[in-house]
Amino acid sequence: MKKTIRDIDVSGRKVLVRCDFNVPMQDGKITDDIRITSALPTIRYLIENNAAVILMSHMGRPKGEPKPEFSLQPVADRLSEYLGKEVIFAKSDVVVDDEVKAAAAALKPGQVMLLENVRYRKEETKNEEPFTGQLASLGEIFVNDAFGTAHRAHCSTAGLAAYMPAVSGFLIEKEVKFLGEALEDPQRPFVAIMGGAKVGDKIPVITNLLTKVDTLIIGGGMAYTFFKAMGYEIGKSLLDEESLELSGAIMRQAEEKGVKLLLPVDTACAAEFSNDSEKVICDRDKIPADLMGMDIGPKSMELFAEAIASAKTVVWNGPCGVFEMPNFADGTKAVAKALAESDAVTIIGGGDSAAAVEQFGFADKMTHISTGGGASLEYLEGKQLPGIACLEDK
Ligand code: ADP
Ligand code: MG
Repeated sequence: MKKTIRDIDVSGRKVLVRCDFNVPMQDGKITDDIRITSALPTIRYLIENNAAVILMSHMGRPKGEPKPEFSLQPVADRLSEYLGKEVIFAKSDVVVDDEVKAAAAALKPGQVMLLENVRYRKEETKNEEPFTGQLASLGEIFVNDAFGTAHRAHCSTAGLAAYMPAVSGFLIEKEVKFLGEALEDPQRPFVAIMGGAKVGDKIPVITNLLTKVDTLIIGGGMAYTFFKAMGYEIGKSLLDEESLELSGAIMRQAEEKGVKLLLPVDTACAAEFSNDSEKVICDRDKIPADLMGMDIGPKSMELFAEAIASAKTVVWNGPCGVFEMPNFADGTKAVAKALAESDAVTIIGGGDSAAAVEQFGFADKMTHISTGGGASLEYLEGKQLPGIACLEDK
């Protein structure tokens, strides 16, 4: 277990907090501030416990140069509103300069300051000096609460830990608790559902999960590569040629390990990759040559829902069909519904799966929706995330 802000005395200290304020912007306005509101519990805790809070984040890809459209000023304004107090914005094209240092030095317990976009500096994404040292000069304790960038070793996500005590904020604590418990000590039966477009992207996750789960469900575009590996014709469906052999190996591994592998038994096909293309349901061994698989079929929805209903832990990554098209969203919706109705610990990892759950209105029925797309995938692959590995152990 990693130490959190509860395990360290922050009173009277200058605390550097890496947040994920990478919010979507349009015409200089924040279009969705969930990442800001999600950070509030950590920030409030630090204020209440008498810390002087110095916040850091990246936004967009300014590529190591100051670009006004990526300034964090709007985030400072929004934060001020939520916290009901001034958030001092340390405006600087180089993020840390003498003025910023003076402002940080003068910051009092209970006060909050936000630095400019750390990716204005080219060192940030390379985890290089002198930037890390400059950031370090501002504070005494490093708190990482940006799960979305925890799979990257950058100055502000990992480098700072070499300079000072490093602990997690509440967001990372939650991610580690749910993802970590599911992988290390799951309540069984443990069912994983994998979907999405390319098998290739997900092979490392599948391989790792195969050593942990009781049942592995495969849906989405990747199912067709498995069908092909089973010897079926898949028409115009997605085929990940390079992963064909690996798909066969996964099926064999599942059998050796006694993992139940559930593939769709039927599929919703269409002639074109379009919502307006007529939906044709067919069994998996009867996909017509001129059609492509767009979603799982009704028999598969039932099969998957049954497996989910008897699970105690479910991890879901990747939609079961092209859910962005309403005509081919049924399979993904059925899985989301089965999760919502289950008593199991339900964990959603992956950007599109999280968006699907949100879109279908089941978000508040899930135990945990991971906030980091890439980071949660790497976690599920069993990789060490540098932004978490660098934190102190309890
Ligand atoms: P996540 O972001 O949850 O990890 P992915 O990015 O791997 O998920 O996959 C999501 C994408 O997979 C979606 O855009 C969806 O349209 C696509 N997809 C799912 N099923 C199919 C299919 N049968 N054919 C083509 N694309 C599919
Ligand atoms: Mg995705």
